[in-house]
Amino acid sequence: MTAELIDGKAFAATLRARIAEQVARLRADHAITPGLAVVLVGEDAASSVYVRSKGKATVEVGMESFQHRLPADAPQADLLALVERLNADPAVNGILVQLPLPAHMDEAAVINAIAPEKDVDGFTVLNAGRLATGQKAMVPCTPLGCLMLLRDRLGSLAGLNALVIGRSNIVGKPMAQLLLADSATVTVAHSRTRDLPGLCRRADIVVAAVGRARFVQGDWIKPGATVIDVGINRTDAGLVGDVDFDAARAVAGAITPVPGGVGPMTIACLLANTLTATARARGLPDPRGLTP
Ligand code: NDP
Repeated sequence: MTAELIDGKAFAATLRARIAEQVARLRADHAITPGLAVVLVGEDAASSVYVRSKGKATVEVGMESFQHRLPADAPQADLLALVERLNADPAVNGILVQLPLPAHMDEAAVINAIAPEKDVDGFTVLNAGRLATGQKAMVPCTPLGCLMLLRDRLGSLAGLNALVIGRSNIVGKPMAQLLLADSATVTVAHSRTRDLPGLCRRADIVVAAVGRARFVQGDWIKPGATVIDVGINRTDAGLVGDVDFDAARAVAGAITPVPGGVGPMTIACLLANTLTATARARGLPDPRGLTP
């Protein structure tokens, strides 16, 4: 058996086209153009690439993109002052501070300075708490994208055994919350977990967010399982995921490739969140199909 490929790139393209339509309608009906501000501190090469591609995707769907750069040695007070300005700017509906921040900055303090209604990454304590308690939240982009792919493939997730490998605030924890809210039976694994292969073999859904190249082995996968590979690892052989793709593909029912799986969904969901934030700021109903 060879698993079906979950084409995140194609799914994301469809999602972006739907967002572009809704942006055009917002402009026509309400004279509103959503705006996304992205803040980059320092010169980290990977972060610069991410920020550029986020800016390009924003403009492509008809939104306004604002990019702000601060030097790596900027005092935290300068960054906080910029966030405050963006919080108060009515043209800015979404604010994203690209992580990681330089070591002299307090990441949590900076993130929590973002107005919750503009927190399109969903990383503030308030949005994390809302998600955990089943209230309307801004949901982190990567797990939201994974959820969309899973629902598209499986329909209802109710009662399925889901294993999330990784417990970061950015991916693992919000992913677990979203799966739980969809009534999956959720296990969260991490570096101290015992018998990860055994847990994996019971999982109908595996979401791997570990940050280790080809870490999840093919013989850990339950036959027919749906495998979502969040990992992005740069190796001599190019970009690879956290799952041993070739081996897992021979066993799984469906699997995301790397690249072309979760990555494109993350950016599409950032645009989705910016549109949702814009609608909420104007008291309009949530755009359809973009929230959990
Ligand atoms: P973190 O490094 O923050 O978290 C990694 C998690 O993996 C931790 O919870 C860690 O456990 C766990 N882990 C590490 N080693 C093991 C092990 N041997 N067995 C079980 N669990 C282990 O990473 P992120 O969550 O930020 O990212 C994960 C991956 O996803 C990375 O490759 C990253 O590049 C990628 N990523 C991709 C995105 C996309 O758009 N596709 C977006 C965001 C991330 P512990 O907590 O115990 O240390």
